[in-house]
Amino acid sequence: MNVPAASPAWQNAAQWRSVEFASDLHLCEEAPLTTLAFGHWLRHTRVDALFILGDLFEVWIGDDTRERPFLAACLAELRAASEQRPVFFIAGNRDFLIGTDALAAAGMQALPDPFPITLLGQRLLLSHGDALCLADTEYQSFRQMVRAQAWQQAFLAKPLAEREAIARAIRSDSQGRKQARPDLSDWADADNAESRRWLQTQGASTLVHGHTHRPAVHDLGDGLTRRVLPDWDLDATPARGHVTRLDSQDWHEVPATARP
Ligand code: MN
Repeated sequence: MNVPAASPAWQNAAQWRSVEFASDLHLCEEAPLTTLAFGHWLRHTRVDALFILGDLFEVWIGDDTRERPFLAACLAELRAASEQRPVFFIAGNRDFLIGTDALAAAGMQALPDPFPITLLGQRLLLSHGDALCLADTEYQSFRQMVRAQAWQQAFLAKPLAEREAIARAIRSDSQGRKQARPDLSDWADADNAESRRWLQTQGASTLVHGHTHRPAVHDLGDGLTRRVLPDWDLDATPARGHVTRLDSQDWHEVPATARP
């Protein structure tokens, strides 16, 4: 994915008063209330910039699907939001195949993972978070394979039906692994030592990421923090999901609401 040149809005970052972060919405047709909450967020937010840190979509198998009614409606919501403020996107493990056509349709600007940025006086490092789950070595080799340009080109060259079948197989394989390893939740978390290394290398103090679906604020020592964004599932009982807002005072958790 290419990183677009800084836009004028980006250069005004010093004037921003508040920004919002969200990740792991896993948008899909089967989650209508989550989709509603996503639209509600984009239409009602008043902040100066949005940062979507991956797994916005449950699955993305190529930009040639972007005109399907559900995906087109999601991209149109993003587009409208991006006309009011910049919308930045870091790809997740579900939607890393989002390409330049879909980004353009959504008005989103792609950022590399990880991405260091100073916002509202805080030196942040933004990431999806899957690259930090070092203990899951099987996943890390899979990630290395699918993030290679050659693999992506070969995959995207396949007919749509074949890509859909592969995506289904990958998902059921990953579900099978989770069932076979009930202890997965213990070892597939973001690695704190690696998080500290990332922060120290980048000269940042707070790592903001999603992916693990374990919202928390971890004190990593030496003034370093790992802030984990929640996943959204407004269709679950109880419903869950919130946006994380940063202003010049503090961090705030803003509940997502499934209202039109
Ligand atoms: Mn993820």
